[in-house]
Amino acid sequence: MKKLALLLCCVFALQLASAQEHGIINNSESPYVKLKSVDMGDCVWTDGFWAEKFDVAKNSMLPYMESLLTGDTGHALNNFKIAAGLKEGKHKGMRWHDGDFYKFMEAYMYMYAQTKDAEILKKLDGWISIIEQAMLEDGYLQTQIQLNDKVNRYENRKYHEMYNTGHLLTSACIHYRITGQKNFLDLAVRHADLLYTLFMPEDKHFGRFGFNQTQIMGCVELYRTVGDAKYLKLAEKFINNRGQYKVEETPETQGYPIGDMVQETTPLREEDEAVGHAVLALYYYAGAADVYAETGEKALIDALDRLWYNVTQQKMYVTGALGQTHYGASSNRQLIEEGFLDAYTMPNTHAYNETCANICNSMFSKRMLDIKGESKYADIMELVVYNSGLSGISLEGKDYYYANPLRMINGTIDYDKMVTEFPERQPYLDCFCCPPNLVRTVCKLSGWAYSKPANGIAVNLYGGNKLNTTLLDGSKLELEQVTKYPWEGRVDITINKAKKAAFDVMVRIPNWAEGTKVLVNGKDAGVAVEAGKFATIKRAWKKGDVLTVDMPMDVRYVEGNTLIEEARNQVAIKRGPIVYCVESPDLPKDAKIMDIYLSSDKDFKPVYKKDLLSGVTSIETEVLVRKNNNDADMYKMVSKPEFEVVKSQLVPVYSWSNRGRAEMTVFMPIIWK
Ligand SMILES: [Zn+2]
Repeated sequence: MKKLALLLCCVFALQLASAQEHGIINNSESPYVKLKSVDMGDCVWTDGFWAEKFDVAKNSMLPYMESLLTGDTGHALNNFKIAAGLKEGKHKGMRWHDGDFYKFMEAYMYMYAQTKDAEILKKLDGWISIIEQAMLEDGYLQTQIQLNDKVNRYENRKYHEMYNTGHLLTSACIHYRITGQKNFLDLAVRHADLLYTLFMPEDKHFGRFGFNQTQIMGCVELYRTVGDAKYLKLAEKFINNRGQYKVEETPETQGYPIGDMVQETTPLREEDEAVGHAVLALYYYAGAADVYAETGEKALIDALDRLWYNVTQQKMYVTGALGQTHYGASSNRQLIEEGFLDAYTMPNTHAYNETCANICNSMFSKRMLDIKGESKYADIMELVVYNSGLSGISLEGKDYYYANPLRMINGTIDYDKMVTEFPERQPYLDCFCCPPNLVRTVCKLSGWAYSKPANGIAVNLYGGNKLNTTLLDGSKLELEQVTKYPWEGRVDITINKAKKAAFDVMVRIPNWAEGTKVLVNGKDAGVAVEAGKFATIKRAWKKGDVLTVDMPMDVRYVEGNTLIEEARNQVAIKRGPIVYCVESPDLPKDAKIMDIYLSSDKDFKPVYKKDLLSGVTSIETEVLVRKNNNDADMYKMVSKPEFEVVKSQLVPVYSWSNRGRAEMTVFMPIIWK
């Protein structure tokens, strides 16, 4: 009998362990994490905003992207086939194209976790088989190098081997978690073992090789998946290498800016400012947060705290976007591209704001949320996913923006000279990093909606969904969220199954939601409710209990810090988590976007319109159009201008540019009455 009890105990413990290990980030055993991931598939969108976006991902974003990447336009699968000897031809696409294919596969994995569509697994197995055949005997796999006779492996960091590696490792770990199959994971292990032999020894050539460092996240996730500490050591090594070597042009760095551009001037633990390429920086910080989650090193989290503050309080756009410029200099006067300028330098029209950088901002904040358990990090995740993330793809799910400026004025940018900036979204981008990054984020977002504190559940993101999960003590929790968020502020969370003992339900009160009410079964919950914090309701929850979060959805003016010259005397309009813009289809035919002013005596009327832009709440209002604004000269004498009042509406910034080529602005000058 004792033996049987022991056996049952063991079986239960095993089930418990496995029930917690299928998160997007598997932090189930991470000692320095307060909020643990829910397993993929535990939360499924049911209705409303994210359910609709998830459907677009299933029916349009993924199939369309598949046609691109497995066909001749994207050529990504072709590259693997050619490397595998299954096809004749040459490598096409950017050097990071392998990584973009792994990201696309990852998106399909999240889709599978929620739909259990067996066809997806078949597709994945087919692609993994080709990838396996492309991998060399010693675990090396980089089609951009294998199919190029002129370069050797690990010759120059600009070839993005580290970036492709990171996405290979991450994608393989996710595949193992959702399927239990090792066919992809085994490839990742072989590949990472090769990396370990090359990059662990102290060596200046390999020491300066870190570049677009997704491999740090990948190595930590591999450590979490297979339990071998050498992959964590390797991840840490990639952090330790940065800032340890003299910043100078060497054969491994030629052809791409050095120093601040790739965050190698200052060691991370001493850094207090986000510099350089925004995507590189934020992937680096996200990876460092993963390392901290395992090691608890104080110097690392102190640096990440400083960097998170600098990024989100001194260099971030009102949409959550990052990377103020395409070309420029860091505050150390070093050449940078696609990245950060000085604090509070926030151009609108020339803002770069690569979709990837914006998404990386939310990835870094997700990790900080897990570590700290503070809702301010989820505020950033929410800001990004509703605004500067989603603006990277058309409502139909087939056209992409790489750059996401806050203003579009006809004639200011010569798009013929641009590589990644476009006046309208494009059906294919030669540089294809952003589209699969965004699509995988849409596909995985239900996995970010909840987290698990020590005793209960935390609600990070709102949206109609069902959650069926196992709490950290092994008890089952089932609940359902019903809401029209973000168009309406009321969220009803019904408990369908819960343990008898008391536990916490933490609900995020967004930083914009002052005046939120939290009710249990229609009565005030009697807990502290503060915007920008979690409200925690501890009680013995019963089946049928309804927790209501009622957030005020007033239309609000948002003003920039006075140090942001580019936003001076202007306001942006925000309602709930959604940032709005005014776009030329909602203005008189010949009105120029720079002649549009707001007046504080005009009312805002939010109206949900199901036939507008796939269903949005627009804000009906009157705007002022400045008359006779002759722009022939650079400067002109002016007296009080004349204005015409016109009826217009503001639309969510993520939905702009879906009605033909248009002008647009987020910040508008305001006349205070
Ligand atoms: Zn990108």
